[in-house]
Amino acid sequence: CFCKLKGQIDDCSCSVDTVDHFNNAKVFPRLSSLLQKDYFRFYKVNLKKECPFWSDDSRCSMRTCHVKTCGEDDIPPGLKGEHDHRNENMALKYLESSQDSDNCDEDNDLDAELGYLNTTISDSAYKGFELWQAYDDAQDNFCTLPDEDGEAQYVDLLLNPERFTGYKGESAHRIWRTIYMENCFRPKKSFNSYISSSKLNGLCLEKRVFYRVISGLHTSINIHLSANYLFSGKNPLSKDADNENWGYNLEEFKNRFSPEFTDKEGPQWLRNLYFIYLLELRAVAKAAPYLAQERFYTGNESEDSETKDAIMDLLNVIKSFPEHFDESCMFADGTKQAQKLKEEFRQHFRNISRIMDCVGCEKCKLWGKLQTQGLGTALKILFSSKFDKLLKTSDQPFLSRSFRLERSEIVTLFNALGRLSTSIREIEMFRQMMRSRTL
Ligand code: FAD
Repeated sequence: CFCKLKGQIDDCSCSVDTVDHFNNAKVFPRLSSLLQKDYFRFYKVNLKKECPFWSDDSRCSMRTCHVKTCGEDDIPPGLKGEHDHRNENMALKYLESSQDSDNCDEDNDLDAELGYLNTTISDSAYKGFELWQAYDDAQDNFCTLPDEDGEAQYVDLLLNPERFTGYKGESAHRIWRTIYMENCFRPKKSFNSYISSSKLNGLCLEKRVFYRVISGLHTSINIHLSANYLFSGKNPLSKDADNENWGYNLEEFKNRFSPEFTDKEGPQWLRNLYFIYLLELRAVAKAAPYLAQERFYTGNESEDSETKDAIMDLLNVIKSFPEHFDESCMFADGTKQAQKLKEEFRQHFRNISRIMDCVGCEKCKLWGKLQTQGLGTALKILFSSKFDKLLKTSDQPFLSRSFRLERSEIVTLFNALGRLSTSIREIEMFRQMMRSRTL
C-alpha cells in the first residue's frame, strides 16, 4: 500500500512507524475525549470578515458548507464572561494591522509604530507601558489575532464537524495556489505548478519547514473529506447507522494520494502530515508547564476538574515521547540574516491566516481558520524567545503578564493537533481497507 510509509520523517529524527504507534494507541484516544469537553468545543470566530486580497467570490450556498452558530443558552456560563486581555486596548489592533504586509521582502517600518507608542507614553506612563507590552506580545504572534469583534460568534465544533463539503474548483484552487505560490518561500525561478518535493532540496531548513507544514495541513484537510465523504446513496463504509450517507471513500483517498494519480507526490504529502503533527506535538510538550497551570474554566466545577485531569494525563503522555521535532536548529545562528528570516517566516504565516478569510465555503473557512490559528499558536510557542527564557527559570513567571496564551489560542492549539492526530488514525483505517481488499 502506498500509504504504508517507511523510514524517517524528513527533517526529523523520528520514524513514521513510531509516530503511527504512539499516536494511534496513546494520543488519539486521549485527545478525542478531551476535545469533547466544553472548554475545547466552543470556539469564537468571525466568519463574515471581508477577504483582504480580492473581491469576494460567490459565498458558497451549498448545504454542506453551512455552519450552525450557538444561541446564547448554548454557551457555558463561564465562557460568556470570557475576558480577553487584548480587548483592553485597541492599540494592539492598530499595531497588528500596520504590521500586516503583503510584500514579503519589504522590511518592517517600525519607526511609525514606535513613534505612535512614544506619544502615548508621554500622555500617560501606564498606558504607555500597556502599549509597549501589547507591541511586544504582537511580535510573538504568527497569525492574525482571533476575531473578537461584534460579528464573532461561538460555534460548537462537535455540531459542525470537518468533513466533505463539495468545495472545489477555481475558488478552492485559488486559495491553495495563493498559499503555495504567493508566499515567497519558493525557489527564485518561479514555476507554474505547485512546488514539487524534488525542488525542496534547494531550500534552507526554515523554508522547507514552512512548505512542509502547509502541505501537511493540506493533506490533513483532504484526508478528512475522504474519510467523511457524502455519498448520494447509502454508503457501505458508513461509520454511523444514523448517518448512512457519510463515510470512508477509499477511491477518493487513493485519487488524492496514490503515486500514480499525483505525479508520485502523494506519499510525500502524507509524510508532510507526520511532520506538522510532530511540530505541533513538540509545541504542546514545550508549553506543558504553562498549560498545567491553566484552570480551563467554563463555570461547571466537575466538568472543569475532569478537563484538568484529562489535560494532565495527555501532557504526561506527550512529554514521554522521546523524538519530538527539534526547533532549536531553526533561526539558530543569531545573525541578522537569521532574524530577518524569522521575521519573513512570521509575516508569510500571518498572510496565510488572513487568506483564510477568502475561503468561499463557511465550514471550510471555520476549520481552516481554526487550524491556522492553532498552528500559529504552536509556532509562537516554539519560536518565541520569551517562552524559552521563561522555561529556563522557575514555573512562577508563567503566572505573570509577560507571557500568556489566550483561551482561543489554547482551544485552537489542541483542536488543530486533534485534527492531525485523527488524520494519522484515518490513514491507518484506509490502510486496513486496502489490505482487506487485496486479501
Ligand atoms: P486540491 O486539494 O484543491 O489541491 C490543488 C493542488 O495542490 C493539487 O492539484 C496538487 O497539485 C496540490 N496538492 C494537493 N495536496 C497537496 C499537499 N498535501 N501538499 C502539497 N500540494 C498538494 N473540502 C471539503 O470537502 N471539506 C473541507 O472541510 C475543506 N476545507 C478546505 C479548507 C481550505 C482552507 C481550502 C483551501 C479548501 C478546503 N476544501 C475542503 C477543499 C479541498 O481542500 C480541495 O481543494 C477540493 O476538494 C478540490 O480538490 P482537488 O483535487 O482539486 O485538489
